[in-house]
Amino acid sequence: MKKQKIKKYSLLKGFKDIVPEDQFYWNFVLDKLSKCADAYGFEKIDLPIVEEYGLFARSVGTDTDIVTKEMFAFETLGKEKVALRPEGTAGAVRAYVEHGMMNKRKPVKMYYEGPMFRYEKPQAGRFRQFHQFGCEVFGEDDPIVDAQIIYMCYQIFDELNIPIEIKINSIGCNTCRNHYLKALKLYLKKYKSKLCVDCNKRYNKNILRILDCKEKKCQEIVADAPQIVDHLCTDCNTHFVKTLEYLEESQIAYTLNPFIVRGLDYYNRTAFEIFCKEEDGSQSALGGGGRYDSLVRMLGGQKTPAIGFALGIERIVSRLRDMYEKTPADERKFEIPTSKTCDVFIAQLGDGARKKVLVLFEKIRREGFLVGESVSKTALKQQMEEADRLKAKMCLIVGQKEIMDDTILIRDMESGNQEIVPSGQILKVLRRRLDSLK
Ligand code: AMP
Repeated sequence: MKKQKIKKYSLLKGFKDIVPEDQFYWNFVLDKLSKCADAYGFEKIDLPIVEEYGLFARSVGTDTDIVTKEMFAFETLGKEKVALRPEGTAGAVRAYVEHGMMNKRKPVKMYYEGPMFRYEKPQAGRFRQFHQFGCEVFGEDDPIVDAQIIYMCYQIFDELNIPIEIKINSIGCNTCRNHYLKALKLYLKKYKSKLCVDCNKRYNKNILRILDCKEKKCQEIVADAPQIVDHLCTDCNTHFVKTLEYLEESQIAYTLNPFIVRGLDYYNRTAFEIFCKEEDGSQSALGGGGRYDSLVRMLGGQKTPAIGFALGIERIVSRLRDMYEKTPADERKFEIPTSKTCDVFIAQLGDGARKKVLVLFEKIRREGFLVGESVSKTALKQQMEEADRLKAKMCLIVGQKEIMDDTILIRDMESGNQEIVPSGQILKVLRRRLDSLK
Protein backbone atom coordinates (compact mmCIF):
# COMPACT_ATOMS: atom_id res chain seq x y z
CA MET A 1 0.00 0.00 0.00
CA LYS A 2 1.24 3.48 -0.83
CA LYS A 3 2.47 5.31 2.26
CA GLN A 4 0.51 8.47 2.84
CA LYS A 5 2.68 11.55 3.22
CA ILE A 6 1.70 13.50 6.29
CA LYS A 7 2.16 17.24 6.16
CA LYS A 8 4.04 18.78 9.03
CA TYR A 9 2.97 22.26 9.95
CA SER A 10 5.37 24.89 11.15
CA LEU A 11 5.21 28.42 12.47
CA LEU A 12 4.37 31.22 10.10
CA LYS A 13 7.24 33.56 9.32
CA GLY A 14 7.63 36.18 12.04
CA PHE A 15 5.61 34.21 14.62
CA LYS A 16 6.99 32.48 17.68
CA ASP A 17 5.90 30.02 20.35
CA ILE A 18 6.65 30.95 23.91
CA VAL A 19 7.63 27.48 25.09
CA PRO A 20 7.49 26.41 28.76
CA GLU A 21 11.25 27.04 29.31
CA ASP A 22 10.79 30.66 28.16
CA GLN A 23 7.79 31.23 30.41
CA PHE A 24 9.92 31.68 33.54
CA TYR A 25 11.51 34.80 32.06
CA TRP A 26 8.23 36.03 30.59
CA ASN A 27 6.41 35.65 33.88
CA PHE A 28 9.21 37.36 35.74
CA VAL A 29 9.14 40.37 33.40
CA LEU A 30 5.34 40.65 33.21
CA ASP A 31 5.06 40.32 36.96
CA LYS A 32 7.60 43.13 37.52
CA LEU A 33 5.87 45.36 34.94
CA SER A 34 2.37 44.90 36.26
CA LYS A 35 3.48 45.34 39.88
CA CYS A 36 5.20 48.58 38.94
CA ALA A 37 2.09 49.79 37.04
CA ASP A 38 -0.08 48.90 40.05
CA ALA A 39 2.23 50.82 42.35
CA TYR A 40 2.08 53.89 40.09
CA GLY A 41 -1.72 53.84 40.25
CA PHE A 42 -2.56 52.18 36.91
CA GLU A 43 -5.46 49.77 36.53
CA LYS A 44 -5.42 46.90 34.09
CA ILE A 45 -7.54 46.85 30.97
CA ASP A 46 -7.78 43.95 28.53
CA LEU A 47 -8.55 45.08 25.02
CA PRO A 48 -9.64 43.00 22.02
CA ILE A 49 -7.03 41.95 19.51
CA VAL A 50 -9.36 42.66 16.61
CA GLU A 51 -10.87 46.11 16.14
CA GLU A 52 -12.39 48.10 13.31
CA TYR A 53 -9.80 48.83 10.65
CA GLY A 54 -10.78 52.49 10.70
CA LEU A 55 -9.82 52.85 14.37
CA PHE A 56 -6.17 52.19 13.57
CA ALA A 57 -6.16 53.95 10.20
CA ARG A 58 -7.63 57.07 11.82
CA SER A 59 -5.43 57.20 14.90
CA VAL A 60 -2.10 55.78 13.76
CA GLY A 61 -2.42 57.67 10.47
CA THR A 62 -3.17 56.66 6.88
CA ASP A 63 0.30 57.65 5.68
CA THR A 64 2.27 55.70 8.28
CA ASP A 65 4.16 52.48 7.49
CA ILE A 66 2.00 50.63 10.00
CA VAL A 67 -1.22 51.41 8.18
CA THR A 68 0.02 51.39 4.59
CA LYS A 69 2.20 48.28 4.73
CA GLU A 70 1.99 46.42 7.99
CA MET A 71 -1.60 45.88 9.07
CA PHE A 72 -3.10 42.44 9.24
CA ALA A 73 -6.37 43.70 7.81
CA PHE A 74 -9.20 41.54 6.53
CA GLU A 75 -12.91 41.37 5.93
CA THR A 76 -15.00 39.23 8.26
CA LEU A 77 -17.73 36.87 7.08
CA GLY A 78 -20.12 39.66 8.01
CA LYS A 79 -18.22 42.02 5.63
CA GLU A 80 -16.80 44.21 8.38
CA LYS A 81 -13.35 45.59 7.64
CA VAL A 82 -11.23 44.77 10.68
CA ALA A 83 -7.56 44.56 11.65
CA LEU A 84 -5.40 42.78 14.20
CA ARG A 85 -4.19 45.53 16.48
CA PRO A 86 -0.74 46.86 15.53
CA GLU A 87 -0.44 48.80 18.82
CA GLY A 88 -2.40 49.35 22.02
CA THR A 89 -3.09 53.07 22.36
CA ALA A 90 -5.89 53.30 19.77
CA GLY A 91 -7.85 50.51 21.51
CA ALA A 92 -7.28 52.08 24.94
CA VAL A 93 -8.61 55.41 23.69
CA ARG A 94 -11.58 53.71 22.04
CA ALA A 95 -12.35 52.02 25.37
CA TYR A 96 -11.88 55.29 27.29
CA VAL A 97 -14.49 56.98 25.10
CA GLU A 98 -16.83 53.99 24.82
CA HIS A 99 -17.02 53.40 28.59
CA GLY A 100 -17.49 57.07 29.42
CA MET A 101 -14.27 57.15 31.44
CA MET A 102 -14.16 60.93 31.04
CA ASN A 103 -16.61 60.91 33.97
CA LYS A 104 -14.08 59.23 36.22
CA ARG A 105 -11.78 61.14 38.52
CA LYS A 106 -8.76 62.36 36.58
CA PRO A 107 -6.20 61.20 35.79
CA VAL A 108 -7.50 57.90 34.47
CA LYS A 109 -4.55 55.52 34.38
CA MET A 110 -4.70 52.20 32.53
CA TYR A 111 -2.23 49.53 31.56
CA TYR A 112 -2.49 46.65 29.11
CA GLU A 113 -0.37 43.82 27.91
CA GLY A 114 -0.69 41.40 25.03
CA PRO A 115 0.07 40.55 21.43
CA MET A 116 0.35 43.12 18.63
CA PHE A 117 0.61 42.37 14.92
CA ARG A 118 2.61 44.10 12.23
CA TYR A 119 3.43 42.61 8.86
CA GLU A 120 7.07 43.65 9.04
CA LYS A 121 10.11 42.00 7.49
CA PRO A 122 11.06 39.47 10.17
CA GLN A 123 14.60 39.84 11.51
CA ALA A 124 16.39 39.64 14.87
CA GLY A 125 14.11 41.22 17.48
CA ARG A 126 11.43 42.02 14.90
CA PHE A 127 8.41 39.76 14.68
CA ARG A 128 5.02 39.86 13.04
CA GLN A 129 3.37 38.96 16.31
CA PHE A 130 5.04 40.53 19.31
CA HIS A 131 3.92 41.58 22.77
CA GLN A 132 3.71 44.97 24.32
CA PHE A 133 3.13 46.24 27.80
CA GLY A 134 1.70 49.73 27.76
CA CYS A 135 0.54 52.42 30.18
CA GLU A 136 -1.75 55.33 29.34
CA VAL A 137 -2.64 58.39 31.44
CA PHE A 138 -5.75 60.34 30.46
CA GLY A 139 -6.79 63.79 31.61
CA GLU A 140 -3.52 65.49 32.62
CA ASP A 141 -1.45 67.92 30.63
CA ASP A 142 0.92 68.90 33.42
CA PRO A 143 4.55 68.27 32.39
CA ILE A 144 5.19 66.55 35.71
CA VAL A 145 3.14 63.64 34.31
CA ASP A 146 5.44 63.47 31.26
CA ALA A 147 8.40 63.37 33.62
CA GLN A 148 6.75 60.78 35.84
CA ILE A 149 6.05 58.46 32.90
CA ILE A 150 9.65 58.67 31.72
CA TYR A 151 10.89 58.27 35.29
CA MET A 152 8.72 55.18 35.71
CA CYS A 153 10.18 53.62 32.54
CA TYR A 154 13.66 54.31 33.86
CA GLN A 155 12.83 52.61 37.15
CA ILE A 156 11.41 49.54 35.39
CA PHE A 157 14.68 48.91 33.58
CA ASP A 158 16.72 49.74 36.65
CA GLU A 159 14.78 47.12 38.57
CA LEU A 160 15.35 44.60 35.79
CA ASN A 161 19.03 45.57 35.82
CA ILE A 162 19.00 46.33 32.09
CA PRO A 163 21.19 49.30 31.15
CA ILE A 164 19.32 51.69 28.87
CA GLU A 165 19.49 55.08 27.31
CA ILE A 166 16.37 57.26 27.25
CA LYS A 167 16.20 59.67 24.32
CA ILE A 168 13.77 62.55 24.57
CA ASN A 169 12.44 65.12 22.16
CA SER A 170 9.45 67.39 21.75
CA ILE A 171 7.56 67.35 18.47
CA GLY A 172 5.47 70.38 19.42
CA CYS A 173 1.82 70.94 18.60
CA ASN A 174 0.15 71.07 15.18
CA THR A 175 0.85 74.77 14.81
CA CYS A 176 4.55 74.88 15.64
CA ARG A 177 5.17 71.53 13.96
CA ASN A 178 3.71 72.84 10.72
CA HIS A 179 6.13 75.77 10.79
CA TYR A 180 8.94 73.35 11.44
CA LEU A 181 7.88 70.97 8.67
CA LYS A 182 8.14 73.81 6.17
CA ALA A 183 11.72 74.50 7.29
CA LEU A 184 12.52 70.78 7.15
CA LYS A 185 11.04 70.44 3.68
CA LEU A 186 13.07 73.35 2.43
CA TYR A 187 16.25 71.85 3.85
CA LEU A 188 15.60 68.33 2.51
CA LYS A 189 14.57 69.54 -0.94
CA LYS A 190 18.17 69.89 -2.06
CA TYR A 191 19.00 66.35 -0.91
CA LYS A 192 15.91 64.63 -2.30
CA SER A 193 17.78 62.66 -4.92
CA LYS A 194 20.14 61.30 -2.25
CA LEU A 195 17.41 60.10 0.13
CA CYS A 196 16.37 56.43 0.11
CA VAL A 197 13.28 55.32 -1.82
CA ASP A 198 11.13 55.20 1.32
CA CYS A 199 12.23 58.68 2.40
CA ASN A 200 11.38 60.01 -1.04
CA LYS A 201 7.84 58.81 -0.43
CA ARG A 202 7.91 60.19 3.11
CA TYR A 203 8.99 63.57 1.75
CA ASN A 204 5.47 64.20 0.51
CA LYS A 205 3.43 62.13 2.92
CA ASN A 206 5.12 61.94 6.32
CA ILE A 207 8.25 64.03 6.19
CA LEU A 208 8.92 63.87 9.93
CA ARG A 209 9.67 60.15 9.59
CA ILE A 210 12.72 60.93 7.48
CA LEU A 211 14.31 62.01 10.76
CA ASP A 212 14.26 58.49 12.16
CA CYS A 213 15.11 56.61 8.96
CA LYS A 214 17.57 53.80 9.65
CA GLU A 215 19.43 54.25 6.33
CA LYS A 216 22.92 55.63 6.85
CA LYS A 217 22.79 57.99 3.88
CA CYS A 218 19.54 59.51 5.15
CA GLN A 219 20.91 59.81 8.67
CA GLU A 220 23.90 61.74 7.33
CA ILE A 221 21.60 64.16 5.57
CA VAL A 222 19.30 64.76 8.53
CA ALA A 223 22.23 65.23 10.91
CA ASP A 224 22.41 68.87 9.81
CA ALA A 225 18.67 69.40 9.36
CA PRO A 226 16.86 72.12 11.31
CA GLN A 227 15.72 70.84 14.70
CA ILE A 228 12.16 70.95 15.91
CA VAL A 229 13.09 72.17 19.41
CA ASP A 230 14.25 75.42 17.81
CA HIS A 231 10.78 75.88 16.31
CA LEU A 232 8.56 75.16 19.34
CA CYS A 233 5.91 77.75 20.23
CA THR A 234 6.07 79.31 23.68
CA ASP A 235 3.61 76.87 25.28
CA CYS A 236 5.25 73.77 23.83
CA ASN A 237 8.66 75.10 24.75
CA THR A 238 7.59 75.77 28.35
CA HIS A 239 6.07 72.29 28.57
CA PHE A 240 9.27 70.71 27.31
CA VAL A 241 11.55 72.75 29.57
CA LYS A 242 9.39 71.93 32.61
CA THR A 243 9.42 68.21 31.76
CA LEU A 244 13.20 68.27 31.58
CA GLU A 245 13.45 70.24 34.83
CA TYR A 246 11.47 67.57 36.67
CA LEU A 247 13.67 64.90 35.18
CA GLU A 248 16.82 66.81 36.17
CA GLU A 249 15.52 66.92 39.72
CA SER A 250 14.84 63.18 39.75
CA GLN A 251 18.43 62.59 38.69
CA ILE A 252 17.87 59.99 36.03
CA ALA A 253 20.05 59.87 32.97
CA TYR A 254 18.53 60.87 29.64
CA THR A 255 19.71 62.45 26.42
CA LEU A 256 18.00 64.99 24.18
CA ASN A 257 17.64 63.68 20.67
CA PRO A 258 16.08 65.71 17.86
CA PHE A 259 15.48 62.59 15.75
CA ILE A 260 12.96 60.93 18.06
CA VAL A 261 9.67 61.61 16.30
CA ARG A 262 7.70 58.38 16.99
CA GLY A 263 6.21 58.33 13.48
CA LEU A 264 2.56 57.88 14.33
CA ASP A 265 0.15 60.70 13.60
CA TYR A 266 -1.34 61.03 17.03
CA TYR A 267 1.73 62.19 18.93
CA ASN A 268 2.44 65.75 20.02
CA ARG A 269 4.89 67.42 22.41
CA THR A 270 6.92 64.93 24.48
CA ALA A 271 8.26 61.96 22.53
CA PHE A 272 10.76 59.47 23.94
CA GLU A 273 12.33 56.12 23.22
CA ILE A 274 14.25 53.67 25.31
CA PHE A 275 17.28 51.94 23.81
CA CYS A 276 19.75 49.33 24.89
CA LYS A 277 23.10 48.56 23.34
CA GLU A 278 23.42 45.23 21.56
CA GLU A 279 26.67 43.27 21.63
CA ASP A 280 27.57 44.35 18.10
CA GLY A 281 27.36 47.99 19.24
CA SER A 282 24.02 48.64 17.51
CA GLN A 283 21.08 49.97 19.47
CA SER A 284 17.71 48.36 19.74
CA ALA A 285 14.55 50.05 20.94
CA LEU A 286 12.95 48.49 24.00
CA GLY A 287 10.06 50.90 24.10
CA GLY A 288 8.77 54.33 23.43
CA GLY A 289 6.04 56.75 24.24
CA GLY A 290 4.74 60.26 24.15
CA ARG A 291 1.83 62.65 24.42
CA TYR A 292 -1.27 62.41 22.29
CA ASP A 293 -3.45 65.29 23.42
CA SER A 294 -5.82 65.28 20.41
CA LEU A 295 -6.52 61.58 20.00
CA VAL A 296 -9.42 61.22 22.43
CA ARG A 297 -11.28 64.01 20.70
CA MET A 298 -10.37 62.65 17.28
CA LEU A 299 -11.99 59.36 18.24
CA GLY A 300 -15.22 60.94 19.40
CA GLY A 301 -14.48 61.87 23.03
CA GLN A 302 -14.09 65.22 24.77
CA LYS A 303 -10.83 67.10 24.53
CA THR A 304 -8.59 65.10 26.87
CA PRO A 305 -4.82 65.42 27.14
CA ALA A 306 -3.09 62.06 27.38
CA ILE A 307 0.32 60.45 27.47
CA GLY A 308 1.55 56.86 27.41
CA PHE A 309 4.27 54.41 26.53
CA ALA A 310 4.65 50.86 25.27
CA LEU A 311 7.49 48.42 25.91
CA GLY A 312 8.42 45.48 23.70
CA ILE A 313 8.30 42.33 25.81
CA GLU A 314 10.24 40.02 23.47
CA ARG A 315 13.18 42.38 23.41
CA ILE A 316 13.11 42.91 27.17
CA VAL A 317 12.90 39.18 27.87
CA SER A 318 15.71 38.40 25.46
CA ARG A 319 17.92 41.11 26.95
CA LEU A 320 17.16 40.07 30.51
CA ARG A 321 17.79 36.42 29.79
CA ASP A 322 21.08 37.15 28.09
CA MET A 323 22.33 39.26 30.96
CA TYR A 324 21.02 36.87 33.58
CA GLU A 325 22.65 33.81 32.07
CA LYS A 326 25.97 35.60 31.69
CA THR A 327 26.07 36.90 35.28
CA PRO A 328 27.63 34.53 37.85
CA ALA A 329 24.98 33.36 40.35
CA ASP A 330 26.57 35.17 43.33
CA GLU A 331 26.62 38.49 41.47
CA ARG A 332 22.98 38.48 40.41
CA LYS A 333 20.69 41.15 41.83
CA PHE A 334 17.69 38.82 41.77
CA GLU A 335 16.91 35.18 41.29
CA ILE A 336 14.69 34.03 38.41
CA PRO A 337 13.35 30.55 39.01
CA THR A 338 14.19 28.74 35.78
CA SER A 339 12.68 25.35 36.58
CA LYS A 340 9.66 24.03 38.42
CA THR A 341 10.21 23.28 42.10
CA CYS A 342 8.08 21.95 44.93
CA ASP A 343 7.97 22.01 48.73
CA VAL A 344 6.86 18.47 49.13
CA PHE A 345 6.85 15.47 46.82
CA ILE A 346 4.45 12.54 47.18
CA ALA A 347 5.74 9.09 46.33
CA GLN A 348 3.71 5.90 46.46
CA LEU A 349 4.51 2.21 46.49
CA GLY A 350 1.97 -0.49 45.71
CA ASP A 351 -1.61 -0.52 44.46
CA GLY A 352 -3.24 0.41 47.77
CA ALA A 353 -1.04 3.51 48.15
CA ARG A 354 -1.62 4.53 44.54
CA LYS A 355 -5.33 4.64 45.17
CA LYS A 356 -4.86 7.14 48.03
CA VAL A 357 -2.39 9.42 46.39
CA LEU A 358 -4.73 11.58 44.27
CA VAL A 359 -6.72 12.64 47.31
CA LEU A 360 -3.59 13.18 49.42
CA PHE A 361 -2.06 15.40 46.71
CA GLU A 362 -5.14 17.60 46.62
CA LYS A 363 -5.41 17.83 50.41
CA ILE A 364 -1.85 19.14 50.64
CA ARG A 365 -2.13 21.40 47.58
CA ARG A 366 -5.18 23.12 49.04
CA GLU A 367 -3.20 23.96 52.17
CA GLY A 368 -1.03 26.17 49.97
CA PHE A 369 1.99 23.87 49.63
CA LEU A 370 3.70 23.38 46.28
CA VAL A 371 3.29 19.66 45.74
CA GLY A 372 5.13 17.42 43.29
CA GLU A 373 4.10 13.97 42.13
CA SER A 374 4.79 11.31 39.62
CA VAL A 375 1.67 9.18 39.97
CA SER A 376 2.21 7.37 36.69
CA LYS A 377 5.46 5.84 37.96
CA THR A 378 5.54 2.79 40.20
CA ALA A 379 9.25 2.37 41.00
CA LEU A 380 10.40 4.35 44.03
CA LYS A 381 13.74 5.12 42.36
CA GLN A 382 12.11 6.94 39.44
CA GLN A 383 9.87 8.86 41.81
CA MET A 384 12.79 9.96 43.96
CA GLU A 385 14.63 11.13 40.83
CA GLU A 386 11.65 13.30 40.01
CA ALA A 387 11.62 14.63 43.60
CA ASP A 388 15.29 15.58 43.18
CA ARG A 389 14.60 17.23 39.83
CA LEU A 390 11.87 19.33 41.46
CA LYS A 391 14.23 20.17 44.35
CA ALA A 392 11.65 18.92 46.85
CA LYS A 393 12.44 19.81 50.43
CA MET A 394 10.34 16.99 51.87
CA CYS A 395 9.13 13.75 50.46
CA LEU A 396 6.06 11.85 51.66
CA ILE A 397 6.26 8.15 51.05
CA VAL A 398 3.11 6.07 51.23
CA GLY A 399 3.56 2.28 51.01
CA GLN A 400 1.57 -0.83 51.88
CA LYS A 401 2.58 -0.62 55.54
CA GLU A 402 1.61 3.04 55.85
CA ILE A 403 -1.81 2.31 54.34
CA MET A 404 -2.37 -0.46 56.92
CA ASP A 405 -1.25 1.76 59.83
CA ASP A 406 -2.87 4.95 58.47
CA THR A 407 0.48 6.72 58.60
CA ILE A 408 2.79 8.58 56.20
CA LEU A 409 6.55 8.51 56.13
CA ILE A 410 8.20 11.93 55.82
CA ARG A 411 11.74 12.17 54.53
CA ASP A 412 13.80 15.32 54.81
CA MET A 413 15.45 15.42 51.40
CA GLU A 414 18.57 17.21 52.57
CA SER A 415 19.44 15.28 55.74
CA GLY A 416 17.76 12.02 54.73
CA ASN A 417 16.08 11.84 58.20
CA GLN A 418 12.77 10.01 58.20
CA GLU A 419 9.79 10.14 60.53
CA ILE A 420 6.51 8.23 60.57
CA VAL A 421 3.51 10.46 61.19
CA PRO A 422 -0.20 9.57 61.67
CA SER A 423 -1.90 10.73 58.45
CA GLY A 424 -4.29 13.02 60.38
CA GLN A 425 -1.31 15.10 61.50
CA ILE A 426 0.48 15.34 58.20
CA LEU A 427 -0.48 18.95 57.39
CA LYS A 428 0.58 20.18 60.84
CA VAL A 429 3.90 18.34 60.69
CA LEU A 430 4.60 19.53 57.15
CA ARG A 431 3.93 23.16 58.09
CA ARG A 432 6.24 22.91 61.11
CA ARG A 433 9.00 21.21 59.14
CA LEU A 434 8.86 23.65 56.22
CA ASP A 435 8.72 26.67 58.55
CA SER A 436 11.86 25.46 60.30
CA LEU A 437 13.65 25.36 56.91
CA LYS A 438 12.92 29.03 56.11
P1 AMP B 1 6.63 51.36 18.88
O1 AMP B 1 5.46 51.98 19.53
O2 AMP B 1 6.44 50.96 17.46
O3 AMP B 1 7.88 52.19 19.07
O4 AMP B 1 6.88 50.00 19.67
C1 AMP B 1 7.23 50.00 21.04
C2 AMP B 1 8.19 48.86 21.28
O5 AMP B 1 7.60 47.62 20.86
C3 AMP B 1 9.48 48.94 20.47
O6 AMP B 1 10.41 49.77 21.11
C4 AMP B 1 9.92 47.50 20.44
O7 AMP B 1 10.57 47.14 21.64
C5 AMP B 1 8.60 46.76 20.37
N1 AMP B 1 8.31 46.38 18.96
C6 AMP B 1 7.77 47.15 17.99
N2 AMP B 1 7.65 46.45 16.85
C7 AMP B 1 8.13 45.23 17.09
C8 AMP B 1 8.28 44.02 16.32
N3 AMP B 1 7.88 43.97 15.05
N4 AMP B 1 8.82 42.93 16.91
C9 AMP B 1 9.21 42.97 18.20
N5 AMP B 1 9.09 44.05 18.98
C10 AMP B 1 8.57 45.17 18.45
